[in-house]
Amino acid sequence: MKTVNDFNFSGQKALIRVDFNVPLDDKFNVTDDTRIRAALPTINKILKDGGAVVLMSHLGRPKEGPTDKYSLKHVVNHLSKLLNKPVKFASDCIGDVAANASKELMAGEVLLLENLRFYKEEEKGDEAFADKLAKNGTFYVNDAFGTAHRAHASTAVIAKFFPQNKCFGFVMSGELESVDKVLNKSEKPFTAIMGGAKVSDKILILEQLINKADNIIIGGGMAFTFVKAQGGQIGKSLVEEDKLQTALNILEDAKKKGINIYIPVDAVVADNFANDANKQTMDIKSIPNGWMGLDIGPKTEKMYADVIANSKTILWNGPMGVFEMSSFEHGTKSVADAIVVATKNGAFSLIGGGDSVAAINKYELGEEVSYVSTGGGALLEYIESGSLPGVDAIVK
Ligand code: AMP
Repeated sequence: MKTVNDFNFSGQKALIRVDFNVPLDDKFNVTDDTRIRAALPTINKILKDGGAVVLMSHLGRPKEGPTDKYSLKHVVNHLSKLLNKPVKFASDCIGDVAANASKELMAGEVLLLENLRFYKEEEKGDEAFADKLAKNGTFYVNDAFGTAHRAHASTAVIAKFFPQNKCFGFVMSGELESVDKVLNKSEKPFTAIMGGAKVSDKILILEQLINKADNIIIGGGMAFTFVKAQGGQIGKSLVEEDKLQTALNILEDAKKKGINIYIPVDAVVADNFANDANKQTMDIKSIPNGWMGLDIGPKTEKMYADVIANSKTILWNGPMGVFEMSSFEHGTKSVADAIVVATKNGAFSLIGGGDSVAAINKYELGEEVSYVSTGGGALLEYIESGSLPGVDAIVK
């Protein structure tokens, strides 16, 4: 895997695809700069070598071409402060405006191009558009893991215009190394913890993990489809009736392959989907009508903590319950705590996919696990298919 560390950028104009799709408030201040900060090491390495940096990104989902609300000009000052140097801005990402700005750029300078998605050609992966973008640099660096699962012009197609001069930035290489550690170089036992709302969203991933993991822990809304498939009574808990057979197939497949699948044994149930609903803890297989399971119960917490404690590699995707409500967050918090303990004892832990990242951040435990992925969709797709357009474009 070629990264920016494998090259000297002296005299180069590095065109870096970054993910500056950051939230802005109504005065266009950046309210969470995690993604911008993540790109700084790559930018600084290239500047330190004596290169110039041309940054390109998308911001939001503009539908009708250029829209002030989605202009990347709103990010310039913030980036400038973080880099501690002025950042130039081109009000277009292709054409004369961009070409002139990138041509004039000197070693040590940084230029940010306007939102790529002001052109519909970006998301279509249009080759002519990618060619125009490519004119802005002499070297292509992809550091946008969050969009690596999209075959867009700037994330994949553009790479063909830099047959030799292309590589990953540190965000990309960090993500790929950590997922590789989990999927291909895992120290055993490897435990995958899968939660969240629906089985249907996780089937492909479960099918992959059955070939890799030693233990699969199931929680969240998706657990109830497994419980019902095995003949349990789940009241009005979340269920996907059309996935009952799929759940049984997964259990059967795991058994054949000698993989342990753990399903919750007890649940915190409520009479309503609300934080102040009446609640009680009970056996997960006998939830009465009118009640729904919204979290795993204490026996399950203990069982899961024991499995996690004995693991050397851990992947966590999806909460154990409705962790957004304080009444039903205990199970998710207990899993997060167990992962932190296992990590302290030497396990490698990767947290990835939207809501488990939200959960680990809610409990401020991001620093206490091995790696928190920045790209939910990209990570899940990588696990499912073993490749991503943005990765293949650099590697091939
Ligand atoms: P996902 O995006 O598939 O990871 O699902 C995350 C969502 O699943 C969160 O918003 C949780 O509140 C929700 N969730 C977790 N457990 C349950 C449950 N037992 N019943 C309903 N929703 C749940």
